[in-house]
Amino acid sequence: AEAKPKYERILLKLSGEALAGNLGYGIDPEVIGDIAGEIRDVIDLGVQVALVIGGGNIFRGVAAASRGMDRASADYMGMLATVMNSLAMQDALEKVGVVTRVQSAIEMQAVAEPYIRRRAVRHLEKGRVVIFGAGTGNPYFTTDTAASLRAMEINAEVILKATKVDGIYSADPNKDKDAVKYQSLSYLDVLKKGLQVMDATATSLCMDNDLPIVVFDLTRRGNIKRVVMGEPIGTIVKG
Ligand code: UDP
Repeated sequence: AEAKPKYERILLKLSGEALAGNLGYGIDPEVIGDIAGEIRDVIDLGVQVALVIGGGNIFRGVAAASRGMDRASADYMGMLATVMNSLAMQDALEKVGVVTRVQSAIEMQAVAEPYIRRRAVRHLEKGRVVIFGAGTGNPYFTTDTAASLRAMEINAEVILKATKVDGIYSADPNKDKDAVKYQSLSYLDVLKKGLQVMDATATSLCMDNDLPIVVFDLTRRGNIKRVVMGEPIGTIVKG
C-alpha cells in the first residue's frame, strides 16, 4: 500500500521573500509557479492546506517606521502587501488546477472573502486551499503570529515554516562554520536561545497550545511533500 501522509491538515507559512526568488523584491512568476506545483502535489495526497504568506518582499512595517513613518500606518501597508502576495499565489495555484479561496483579515469585498473561521474550515474540507491574507488584521503583529493564530483556529496539526535554510542552527550557517543543526527543539529552547525561528509572540502562542512547527528548506524541490510525508527533514519545534 502507498504510504500515508503524516498530516491531514497543515498550515504552510511562506515568507514574502520566498516569492521574490533571486529578484530579492516583488514576485517572481517562475518561483511562485514552482511553489504552486509543490502545493498541488500535497493536495493530490488528500492533505488539507491553508496558507499564510508574508509581505516582506513588498513592504515591512518596522522598516518604514524606523525611517519615520507612523508604525501602525506602516503595518497596515505591510498587511496590504500580504494580500497582494495572496492574490498572486491564488493565481499561480489556479493555473495548476488547484481551487483556492483568499480570506482577508481586513475586509476587501471585491478581492477576497472576509476571514470567517467556519467558512475557512469548510473550504479546507472540500479540498480548497485557503490563503489567509492581511495577517492578523492588527498592527504590531507579524505574519508568523497570524500563521500560529490561524493554525490554531482551523485545528491544523502543524505549521510548516518554509525558509531558505534546512532547519534551525545554533548560529547562522552562512556565517559560522561551527553552526550545528538541531533535529528537534522545545519552544522554551527557541525562546531562551533567542533563535530566529519565529518571533516570540508566535512561538509562545504555539507553546501555549502545543502546536508543532517544522522549519524546513523550501528551495529544495519536493520538500513540502517530504515534510508532509513525515520524512525527518528540517527541525521540529515542539513541547
Ligand atoms: N503585519 C502586521 N500585522 C500582522 C501581520 C503583518 O502589521 O498581523 C505587517 C507588518 O508591518 C509586517 C508586514 O505586515 O512587517 C509584512 O509581514 P511580515 O514581516 O510578517 O512578512 P514576512 O517577513 O513573512 O515576509
